[in-house]
Amino acid sequence: MSQKIEKTETEWQKELDPLQHHVLRQHGTERPFSSPLNNEKRTGLFRCAGCGEPLFDSKTKYESGSGWPSFWAPLEQAVETMTDTSHGMVRTEVTCAKCGGHLGHVFPDGPRPTGERYCMNGAALKFEEKK
Ligand SMILES: [Zn+2]
Repeated sequence: MSQKIEKTETEWQKELDPLQHHVLRQHGTERPFSSPLNNEKRTGLFRCAGCGEPLFDSKTKYESGSGWPSFWAPLEQAVETMTDTSHGMVRTEVTCAKCGGHLGHVFPDGPRPTGERYCMNGAALKFEEKK
């Protein structure tokens, strides 16, 4: 497994735009249907907006109707999950394994083959088209 990235809050603030910083470093959530990545249907990789690690393949992206980019599986060992009990709900938080940035949550109501729905903030991702 690759080495984790550690940066100070000031460094992150300098590198990220305000929405990226809010989502990745402060566990924020972008408004639904606000990310241009919702409608991204090209073939390619979705990378972490914080550290650039590849997190999701476009093959696993699907339209969930939730208003956030959704995937049924992450790339192997790309993300970490933990229980999140904030906002009076029990959810599973998804973070980037490399930089610890908050990406979104995973829910057990996704399509086959995994049955999982990785509900991601578009602001936490960067799309790179594969040509
Ligand atoms: Zn990252």
